[in-house]
Amino acid sequence: MHKEPLYSLKGKSVWVAGHRGMVGSAIADRLGKEDCEILAVSRREVDLRRAEQVEAWMERMRPDAVVLAAARVGGIFANDSNPADFIYDNLMIEANVVDAARRFDVEKLVFLGSSCIYPRLAAQPISESALLSGPLEKTNEWYAIAKISGVKLCQAYRRQHGCDFISAMPTNLYGPRDNFDLMTSHVLPALIAKAHVAKEERAASLDVWGSGLPRREFLYVDDAADAVVHLMKHYSGEEHVNIGTGVDLPIADLAQLVCDVVGFRGALRFDVSKPDGTPRKLLDVSRIAELGWRPRVSLEEGIERTYLWYLQNQAGPRVRAHVEA
Ligand code: GDP
Repeated sequence: MHKEPLYSLKGKSVWVAGHRGMVGSAIADRLGKEDCEILAVSRREVDLRRAEQVEAWMERMRPDAVVLAAARVGGIFANDSNPADFIYDNLMIEANVVDAARRFDVEKLVFLGSSCIYPRLAAQPISESALLSGPLEKTNEWYAIAKISGVKLCQAYRRQHGCDFISAMPTNLYGPRDNFDLMTSHVLPALIAKAHVAKEERAASLDVWGSGLPRREFLYVDDAADAVVHLMKHYSGEEHVNIGTGVDLPIADLAQLVCDVVGFRGALRFDVSKPDGTPRKLLDVSRIAELGWRPRVSLEEGIERTYLWYLQNQAGPRVRAHVEA
């Protein structure tokens, strides 16, 4: 374990861009345990897609460090249906924040990417070096291209300007404040919402998109936030670093686990008219393990915590109507 951090957060001001999102809010919570000041700004005040607004905010606040967790995100359906939004919004957010961070002398920046930056058929588990070694998965290539550009931006600013900007690549994340809207969500929150409604309605079965065969790795968002803070403190390098558990499972098994946690006892029905997406994306997490970090929350416990949050914040007539639609 590293005792002395490479970068100390003590007494620093840290801007969490995207603090209202699932990941950004978990990072802001986690930074609350460090001796630092957290800066945040609403989307209404600063549209991160507009360079002049980002610059004005940076000039005013002068953060010492930045966590770039703001992004347009969505599941397989949202990505595929709104390619322009996914590529434009993400490119603009990254370019504006990274460039302003250099101009206003930010000491440390962490850019958050996603495991979908890797080639569709990358060797498993996927090591950091697999980036740009083959064609991308088509259903989310717009988002992936934007996120790859974010990694490259950090590398380029590090090379040309000596900026200590790093990138973290988390696997599929889930947890409280996730998006449970069935048309735009990722699989895990979608299954929680579906299983909850199916249980309430005493339905005979629950629809799972695709064949159930694709395998995915899931990391609880508080673990991801802890990993990001760990990297901020203990990593400085050009190559991005994977964040994950190193364990994956088929979507069918995930669906069963969610049903068990939620208490839905009906059957699973696989809707093969929906896309499977990439067959597998398991991250090689040996790099971050070497840096002294590992996850703490099991998948079952994470799903339990997420379901509890859902029950307290989301479950209700609005969700039910949507699921039925
Ligand atoms: P991906 O990891 O980028 O493919 O994004 P998703 O989390 O949206 O999908 C992961 C896998 O879960 C894909 O094979 C989906 O077809 C499958 N899946 C099964 N049921 C659902 C569902 O209700 N919603 C979503 N988004 N995916 C589902």
